Amino acid sequence: MLCKPVEREIRRFALLNALEFGKAQVKPVIAKVLALHPELRKNAKDVVELCERVVSEINSLSPEEIKKISEEMGVKLEKRKRESGAQTLPELPVEENVRPVFRIAPNPNGPLHIGHARMIILNDEYAKRYGGTLILRFDDTDPKNPAKRPVKEAYEMIRRDLKWLGVKWHEEIIASRRLDIYYRWFEICLKRGFAYICTCNAEEWRERVRKKRTACECRKKSGEENLRDWKKMLAHEFKEGEAVGRIKTSLEEKDPAVIDWVAFRIIDEPGHPFFANPQTAPKVWPSLDFASAIDDRLTGVTHILRGKDLAICEKRQRILYDYFSWRYPRVFVFGKIFSEKFVFSTSRLREMVEKGIYKGFDDTRLATICALRKRGITAQAIRNYIISLGLNENETKFDMEILHAFNRKVLDPVAKRFFLVRNPVEIELETVPREQIEAPLYPGRKERRVIKVSERIFVEKEDFEKFRGKEVRLMHFCNVLLKKKARVTSLENRDIPKIHWVSNGVKVALVENEEERECVAEENVLGVKRDEIVQFERVGFARCEDRARFYFAHR
Ligand SMILES: [Zn+2]
Repeated sequence: MLCKPVEREIRRFALLNALEFGKAQVKPVIAKVLALHPELRKNAKDVVELCERVVSEINSLSPEEIKKISEEMGVKLEKRKRESGAQTLPELPVEENVRPVFRIAPNPNGPLHIGHARMIILNDEYAKRYGGTLILRFDDTDPKNPAKRPVKEAYEMIRRDLKWLGVKWHEEIIASRRLDIYYRWFEICLKRGFAYICTCNAEEWRERVRKKRTACECRKKSGEENLRDWKKMLAHEFKEGEAVGRIKTSLEEKDPAVIDWVAFRIIDEPGHPFFANPQTAPKVWPSLDFASAIDDRLTGVTHILRGKDLAICEKRQRILYDYFSWRYPRVFVFGKIFSEKFVFSTSRLREMVEKGIYKGFDDTRLATICALRKRGITAQAIRNYIISLGLNENETKFDMEILHAFNRKVLDPVAKRFFLVRNPVEIELETVPREQIEAPLYPGRKERRVIKVSERIFVEKEDFEKFRGKEVRLMHFCNVLLKKKARVTSLENRDIPKIHWVSNGVKVALVENEEERECVAEENVLGVKRDEIVQFERVGFARCEDRARFYFAHR
């Protein structure tokens, strides 16, 4: 038997097919379903039958009905299909009449980068698709490790990056503000015998319990004794390393790292931005596994989409959920995005910024979200790129060129065009055939920009050297014999090399890889507003920082 989500998916494909061709066809629908769910090949017969049934059902509807149902199901044709991700992201199992709850849980120890984007975009996409709730949970309960410690500015940096990415979250929680909640739940665990306070030496414990699989003495303590030791932990009578709170598991667990996992530890000198004074700061901190397990339960998370590297979390947390007879959220795993070229480790990033190797987190040579935004990569391009990777366990090497291609697709129809010359060589026209010309502001659209022309023209040094003495066309203007003193040959647009040029230009700085270059651009760029992304003809896309400064994106 095939489950509901598969049927829903088949219906989407069939509707899409019907929208496109008037009538839905069985074969392409089957092909699409099997391509997205290779695991269903073994049930191919059921798939075929179901497809046939759904397709004939849809073909019995009127075009108006098909339109209406498609709208209700969020099925749209080609143009918007890519944006909604309907093609690449498979359906998730969602219960009828239950609003699904998703969550993203960044560690606020630095800005977001493209390596985080998969976790963020996938959760946001699905929350939107199913009209669900998205929770932003700051996972900031590791104040020991200097590399992972939360940083005050990072909370706001992350919120800002998320907003810019178009992520809509409905609720925000900060784990470090919820210590009392975690304490209370852990006390319940201690009382009920789900957990214990272990005062063994960590190394001896590992050898004895995880390797030899024999229980330590602490495991035999009564609930009362455990509560007594827990109070000592909270009162900092135990110091770091002298006691930990463990969740009891089977000693037969296949993965030793799951056995009696740590739910709480003592940190003598926590470095946490919300507890500036290390003397009065809490000394007992939950592990990520414990805190997020409790929060997922309390916030009603129904679907977890997480990186493959966090598979062990699920194993540990399921044990806790089983103790309380809670239902564990449905889990979907995706492979991480890695890079050899760009720094993804937040601690290394911070270090390199502090050393001055990078100018800041938004240094345009980086792949942080703020750096990408700064140089004119659009949020939509990042989203489309992530969606194109699908929901699967494949690891992906981040490819900036592919991101650029997505960006070009987004910008090409909407970015205003202007002339800009990077290495200006001045030439003089013998005659000026027109005082001003008109050129398209966007390709293939009616809007025009007016460029005033004088006899002084700037062309690209490279073009000047390459075409010196030859006839070229000054784009949108006239044909000239290219020399220091150039003769205008005709106005007619002929099949000769076209070069870009500037007359009556203004100086602007173009920043590429953090190197600033003084260029001349046509006067019209003075009308460009901050954050607008334009296309300099034959040069490439750039984002306006202010009217005299642009950041280069790509060609
Ligand atoms: Zn012990």
